[in-house]
Amino acid sequence: MTYHYIDTHAHLNLAQFDTDRDAVTARLQAEGVAAINVGTRKATNELAVALAAAHEHLYAIIGIHPINVITADPDDHGADAPEPTLDYDWYKKLAAHEKVVGIGECGFDYFHNSSDTYEAQREVFLAQIALANELQKPLMLHLRNTPDGQGRNAYDDALDILASEAKVRGNAHFFAGTYEQAKHFIELGFTVSFTGVITFAKMYEPLVRDLPLGMMHGETDCPYVAPVPYRGQRCEPWMVTEVYKKIAAIKGLDEEVVREQLLANASMLYQI
Ligand SMILES: [Zn+2]
Repeated sequence: MTYHYIDTHAHLNLAQFDTDRDAVTARLQAEGVAAINVGTRKATNELAVALAAAHEHLYAIIGIHPINVITADPDDHGADAPEPTLDYDWYKKLAAHEKVVGIGECGFDYFHNSSDTYEAQREVFLAQIALANELQKPLMLHLRNTPDGQGRNAYDDALDILASEAKVRGNAHFFAGTYEQAKHFIELGFTVSFTGVITFAKMYEPLVRDLPLGMMHGETDCPYVAPVPYRGQRCEPWMVTEVYKKIAAIKGLDEEVVREQLLANASMLYQI
């Protein structure tokens, strides 16, 4: 199929889309937008793969979100229990579907989880790296620092582990680390991606301006962080067009050049 944009990190598989998932999926197709739905625990992984199997313009990435290692994210269909270990064979089997294009989202979340849970998060992260290595699929990383920015740093913790353990490339989703950390990810062959937050938060502009266009993606992380001019609404994957436009504006590049390069970047990393 042909599509003009791809949202590399979406969650049509979360509960916020339970009432109108089909309508949103149809709208994407009409707008020429493809999307990769990222799973967070078993139930949302199964739904991401089912959506990808049913719709040509949807893909899936499967894994355990670091929040779900410790607690249960209520957006995950009212999940009431964490998923503290990776059921390796279950995930390996689900990943055999041709439209599963990566493993994750995985990594460290010190915003929702206390830094004391480092070891528990690390164990599940290592298991997902091992699965990605075995299947030769890229990693989708979720890295989030503590609310006050003190204490453990999710980006440094991930870089330390990836440098010795990862035999695949990947993407640091919703990148909010430093320029130096971004350079380290890029040295390891990892891309960074930006959400609608760049349309209203100026702090991202130096990163978007200075990092190479060939190593970044546009994403929505929907249903979260709708871009300008849709702030306050539930975010949907077609809104990724605003993220593409903002990247072009910040970099001072032609929108069409940026659109083509971002499509090529996603195609290269996720083999789609
Ligand atoms: Zn996500």
